[in-house]
Order: sequence, then C-alpha cells, then structure tokens
Amino acid sequence: MKTRPDYPALASALLEEHWGLEASLTRLPGENLNFLVECDGQEKKILKLTTDPHADVDLEEALLAHLASAGFAVPTSSPAPGSKACIQLSIAGHQAIGRLQSFLPGTGWREAGTTPDLLFEIGAFLAQVHQSLDSFSHPGASRTHQWDLSHAHRNVDAISLIDSSSRRRTLEDCFHLFRACAVPVLQACPQGMLHGDPNDENILVDKGQVVGLLDVGDCQSGALVQDLAILLAYALQQEGMSLQSASPLLSGYQSIRPLQRLEYDALVSLAIARLATSICIAETRRVGAPDHETWFSHQESTWSTLDSIMNHSPSEALDMLFDRKASGDETQLLEARDALVGPSLSLSYESPLHIIRGRGQYLHAADGRPYLDLVNNVCHVGHCHPHVVAAMASQAAVLNTNTRYLHENITRYARRLCDTMPDGLDVCYFVNSGSEANELALRIARAATASRDVLVIDGAYHGHTSNCIEMSPYKFNGRGGHAQASWVHVVPMPDVYRGEIRDADAGPAYALEVGRVIGEACSGGGSIAAFFAETMLSCGGQIPLPEGYLSAAFEHVRRAGGLCVADEVQVGFGRVGEAFWGFELAGVVPDIVVMGKPIGNGHPLGAVVTTRAIAEAFDNGMEFFSTFGGNPVSCACGMAVLDVIEAESLQERARVLGSRFMQGLLALQHRHSMVGDVRGHGLFLGVELVRDKVSLEPADTEARQLVNAMKDRGVLLSTDGPLHNVIKIKPPLVLDEADIDMTLRLLDDVLDEFDVNR
Ligand code: PMP
Repeated sequence: MKTRPDYPALASALLEEHWGLEASLTRLPGENLNFLVECDGQEKKILKLTTDPHADVDLEEALLAHLASAGFAVPTSSPAPGSKACIQLSIAGHQAIGRLQSFLPGTGWREAGTTPDLLFEIGAFLAQVHQSLDSFSHPGASRTHQWDLSHAHRNVDAISLIDSSSRRRTLEDCFHLFRACAVPVLQACPQGMLHGDPNDENILVDKGQVVGLLDVGDCQSGALVQDLAILLAYALQQEGMSLQSASPLLSGYQSIRPLQRLEYDALVSLAIARLATSICIAETRRVGAPDHETWFSHQESTWSTLDSIMNHSPSEALDMLFDRKASGDETQLLEARDALVGPSLSLSYESPLHIIRGRGQYLHAADGRPYLDLVNNVCHVGHCHPHVVAAMASQAAVLNTNTRYLHENITRYARRLCDTMPDGLDVCYFVNSGSEANELALRIARAATASRDVLVIDGAYHGHTSNCIEMSPYKFNGRGGHAQASWVHVVPMPDVYRGEIRDADAGPAYALEVGRVIGEACSGGGSIAAFFAETMLSCGGQIPLPEGYLSAAFEHVRRAGGLCVADEVQVGFGRVGEAFWGFELAGVVPDIVVMGKPIGNGHPLGAVVTTRAIAEAFDNGMEFFSTFGGNPVSCACGMAVLDVIEAESLQERARVLGSRFMQGLLALQHRHSMVGDVRGHGLFLGVELVRDKVSLEPADTEARQLVNAMKDRGVLLSTDGPLHNVIKIKPPLVLDEADIDMTLRLLDDVLDEFDVNR
C-alpha cells in the first residue's frame, strides 16, 4: 500500500526554505493543502500550497488584492524575502504554487450558527462583494471549472453511480429543472465577477457580523445569481433551516442589489443544481477514494436538504423563499373550462397540466415545473423562438390584411417554400390549418380530375372539417364515428410489424392492395380524384412506409387518373432528418403537397403546393379565397421558421439526434420485454409496446401508464395508433443530446418498474 506523504513536514521544510520561517504547521481541514503557521511571538499565517494544474493563482491574487483595497477582509499574500508572493515549488513530486497568506480571525459561518439578522448580513455582504467586483477585470476571468454552476449538468453521468432508484430520480429532476429553468436564462441575467464558492466555511463571522471572506479558488465571471444560489444552498443545509427561514438571506442581498425577473426564474433551480453537484462530485470521488469516507460526511445532510426542497414545486419553493402567498387555482380553471368550452375537447394526462410558458424544447407549468416536450411537432423550431416571435411582432405592427393586395411577403414566402420542393411543384395556396389545407387539396383534385372519390390509408387522420373527418378512418372508425362515406375508399395500413404482410417485399405487396381497392372503387363506374397519403403514418402509429410502397401505389393511382397528395402536416420541414420532406424518403414526387403544424411554429398556418397545370385546371371560375390565409404576418412567420431551420441546421440536427434516440430506444427494446418495435426516421419515432413479443398483444394500459409516469418525471409523451399502444416521439427539433439521454434513462427506469410488477 502506498503511504501518504507527510504533508505538514514537507510544508514546514518549504516554509523554511523559501520564507526563512521556522514554525509549527497544522494542516487545516478540507481537500486543499492549507496549513496554519504559528511562530512564537508572530502573527498567525496560512501557508497555501496549490497543486491543481487548472488553478489560476494570478487571477485569485488579483481578485483578493481588489477586494482588499475595497476594504474587504480577505487573505493577502506576503512576498517571500527577496522574491515574489507566489513561489513555484514542488511538493511530494507535484508542481505547486506556494503562498504565505494573512490569517483572518473569525469562525466559519457553519460553526457559528445562524440567526435571521446574520442571514440578512451575509446576503447583503455578498451583494456588496458583487458591487465591488463590478470594476474588476482580468483576462483569466471567463473560465470554467468542475464546480462551475452554469455547467452543473456536466455531472449528470454520476447519477448512474447511485443505487437507489428514487435518489436517481431526484437527481434527474434536479438537472432537468436546471437545464430547463436556469441554462436558457443565465446569459440574460446580470453578469459579473463571482466569488464562485461563497459557502458556509468561506464566510467568516464573529459576534453576529461578517468579518471575512476566504478561498476565491473557484472565482470566475458569470451570472451573479449563481453566487447567490450557492450561498442559499449552504444556508439551507444549516441545522433547522427551512425555505421560509432562509428568506432574510435574500432580503439582505436585495437590500443592496434587487434581483431581476430572470434571476428569480433561475434561483431555485441553481440552488438545487449546486446541491446535486455536490452529491455527484462526491459520488464520483468516492469511486476513486473509498478510504476517504470523511470527505463524504456531508452527503446525507445534503440529501436531506435536497429532498426537502424537492418536496415542493419550484414556484412553491420560490414563494416560500420570498415569503409570498401562493397563487393560481387549477380546480377553478378546470371548472371554468368545463362550463365554457365544448366538452368534446379532452385534456391530456390523468391530472391535466396548467402550462403557462414555452421556451425551446420545454413547456413550463404554473407550479414552476418544466416539462421536456417530446410530442409537440408544431413548435418545430422550439417554443416561442425569438426570431419567429420578433418577425411576427414587427410585421403585426406594420400591416396585417388579406391577400387581395400586392404584398412582398406572400410572393417571397411562396418562392421560398417552392424552393424546398422538387421542380414542377411551384404554385402555392395559403390557408390557416392542416385541415383546411387537406380540404383545399380535395377541392383542387376534384376540380382537376372531374372525379369525386378518394383513397386513404387505414388509421389515417387528415383533419377536423366534415370532409376531412369522412377521409379519416382514425375518426370515422373510432368512437362516435359513422359509416364510411361512399366516396372514400380505405387501403390497408402498410404496417410491417403488425399488418398482414411483414416480409421484405411488403412495400410493393401493400401497393398491390392500393391497386385492388382502386379496381373495386372503379368497378361500379366511380373514378378516383386523389390518393391522400401521409409520408409516414402518424395517427396510424408512427409507421414509416415500407420501401417501394409509395412509388408503386402512386403508379396505381395515376394509372386510374387520380392525383397523389402527400400529407406532410406531421412529418415535413426536415423532421425526418435524411430529407426535408417525407415523400423524398420514398423517392416520389406528389402532385399536391399539404402542409400544416410546423409550418408556422404554432401560428395558424397551412399551405398547399401543386403544379402549374393542376392549378390552372382548378382555376375554373370559382375563386379560392381565405380571409386570413397568406396574410403578411403569417407569411413573415413562415419565412422566419424557414430561416431558423436553415440557420440552426435543424434538418441535420434531426438526423443526428434522431439516430442517437433510435440507438437508445433499440437498446431499451433489447432490455425490456414490453418494447415490441422501435421505428421512425429522424425525430419522428414510435415505440410499440406489447405484452408478448410473439402474440403482439397490445400493451395499451401500460402505454398510458408509461406516458403518465414519464409526465410525472417531467417528460411529455403521448400514445397513438389504432390500438393505443404506440408511444410517439416528435419533439421540437431544438432538443439536445442531454434531453435524449435523460429520456432514455427515465424510460429505462419506468420500464424496469413494469418488468418488476409483471
Ligand atoms: N393532417 C394530419 C396528418 C394531421 O396530423 C393533422 C392534425 N393532427 C391534420 C392534417 C389537421 O391539421 P389541423 O389540426 O391543423 O387542422
């Protein structure tokens, strides 16, 4: 076994060699090599030996000198005789920098205990430090390190070192909250130089007053609220402290520097992230230093502080910290909705969510909880993307009117949409929703072919208008549905997992079915106006079309004189990753393309694109006019969405992240008996749950339970498919790797629970 170096002896030799002092040295508690230097008849000193190669001693010294000259009691380094204050030396074979610093009297705040007055003092003290550091600058200030709170989620890997699943879940919640509530706003919060670690050992107190500040080794520039959150995290760990009783700390800070709204938004999640970071770093260190149990002695008290905060919703915690009355009553909202909104509109999830804000890939509930939105393919470029919001707002401030005037926006936007299409698809119509777009496509197809009937794929949904409902087997075959309309013909779903045909030639074989249905439809004298096909089935259960299906099906349709309509409402605009449009995956060119949902990132917008020849056939004297369709604001919005897709390379992102998601889901399929099938392209994915991988008995109840369990863990998913057993995944394309990894870990845990309970 390796013997540990006798650090006090080595340090004492160094002290003599470089500072010419003979003294008795005592190592101070903690991981740093700090020694109390006591010489007869002289003031106490601290010998500080810094071995961390990432430390920036020059930055630390500049910061200490700045604070000292502003009147703060901080350690200052005295030069060695005939030399500098910072000396390069070597200790036990390690390069080190030695400093002899002044000793500050006072007791660490942890030992001294806490009163409301002292908390106020400490809060005000930190704000004064921040104020003073306003005029500090140093080239090394913008740096990062292991404890950098703005990157707390780097520690997430340590979660897997923890045995208890409930503790893993708590840490997942912490980092999720941090990523959703703090990370997006930190840069917009007031910035400055941070102490970096204002913990309860580094703030010295005496007789109820703050008398000193130690250890600036973690200083860096950043959002000031980071420091306040660290201070808060340590206050909350004090004996008998609660969220309410910590409030003087915040009042004290605000007596010098009032917080801004974004800082309120971030504070709780930052404090939680600091506690979670302490736990994760300790867990990681424990692996490498099992014989250093004392280093981890605070773990349990950190856990109990974390648990007590996490028992409250983030807004409850904030209300308690700032001594405010809780607001918002969901029961009243539900009652009002029941009384005033048509009852055929259901709410998602067993206990409905009250969502008050969207940002990026997150939805935020009124109780402050963030939810990773994995189902909203409408907010394609992220909820409330600032570029889209700004484009709409600035156009709305100038003009919003109908399309019977010349205006640049409609032509510019039409050109940009057509530029995303294969040659020939170059005429646009603008409407306000996917349903309207399908209605218009139907009208165009009927006018152009002088036929009435349509083919649709089983399980499809094409919209909520009367014609669209008649074209949607998902609806007319579902609850409250009515008999199939005589003008609608249904072809089988080309489902290679559960359908009749599952072999390698399934694509052309399912296309033969299209030919067969056309034959039956036309045998009584009917004729086909159009085949409406989603280019990946959504309500049908997130099903990619098998190879060769669409091209052969389109041939059958065209041979019968019908037009081929691609409903891209769900999958278009780069979501499938390998292509911008779903139909491109199949190597076909439709006659009409229908767009909705992501086209306006949430703004009501829909479009139909077709060929010049078809548009001319439709121009039969009856006008097409939509009061709102294609107005300048909608077109500005649509263009802004295209801008973001390009500027942020979202199609490529969908490809790369989709493949990461897919790999993770395939691993889950391997591990869990309930995951029957995993499928999709890019960020349009489906996970089909079954009770038995041979009989394929659908696990519909379990799918619903899983969706609710994931919602309780802060991830929004939903079920689809005629058997309600497919988990659908179609997030805003701006989600990131960490979101995917978190989702996979949480799914793994939830599926484990199912495995245990079976
Ligand atoms: N087509 C498809 C494939 C859809 O999924 C939907 C909506 N879910 C629509 C059309 C109708 O779009 P909207 O709700 O905008 O009318």
